Amino acid sequence: MKLLVPIKRVIDYNVKPRVKADGSGVDLANVKMSMNPFDEIAVEEALRLREKGVASEVVVVSIGPAKAQETLRTGLAMGADRAILIQTDDEVEPLGVAKLLAKVQEEEQAGLIILGKQAIDDDSNQTGQMLAALLGRPQGTFASKVEVSGDAVAVTREVDGGLETVSLTLPAIVTTDLRLNEPRYASLPNIMKAKSKPLATKTPADYGVDVSPRLATLKVVEPPKRSAGVKVADVDELVAKLKAMGVAA
Ligand code: AMP
Repeated sequence: MKLLVPIKRVIDYNVKPRVKADGSGVDLANVKMSMNPFDEIAVEEALRLREKGVASEVVVVSIGPAKAQETLRTGLAMGADRAILIQTDDEVEPLGVAKLLAKVQEEEQAGLIILGKQAIDDDSNQTGQMLAALLGRPQGTFASKVEVSGDAVAVTREVDGGLETVSLTLPAIVTTDLRLNEPRYASLPNIMKAKSKPLATKTPADYGVDVSPRLATLKVVEPPKRSAGVKVADVDELVAKLKAMGVAA
């Protein structure tokens, strides 16, 4: 079985984003970019399934600028077998990404597509769900455990107040939550090896997909600065203050 893992190049999670002066978006000039953390978890899960003998090949795919090659090379250095870059300098919304991934899946016929539950730049949490709908295949979102047996995959999902386990018939779509696994670091020899692994470059036009935006960003603002707190002497003073604020009865 083949596994397809879509990975997005996003602003590194350690970087504090700066909003552009005109409020049109986040300033990405000279900012460190990395693989979306939930996608690292997706790559790790795919590699573990291959190591268990459940899968034979792990293919990483990214939609983004030429520099997204670096992200794909990171996936290859972690252990993926080959990569596909769908190159575009335009911002592609989740629907466009899902349409492109559906076309890739038509060609690749993967048994399982493992995505992150959300990209930490746009926080959309849409692509996996849209892809499942476009392909007419089952989805297991927010996965904290993934077990393949025969032609089904059992996905344990993190839901409000507990865990839910669902069984999906393959081919299926899974999106990863934080507790699924702890991704490995790429070793230096594997980083070297990754340089010679296959990376195919395509464009959205190659797949005949219209990725023009369906929505316009009106304004981006920084979160309001937090005002300084006050120290209270004891619990009585804290309760009195909370009562005064109407928080406690
Ligand atoms: P989102 O719906 O934008 O929050 O993204 C959810 C997941 O879809 C991500 O964690 C990735 O696995 C995948 N994804 C989103 N955008 C891209 C992209 N441009 N290239 C590859 N994968 C993507």
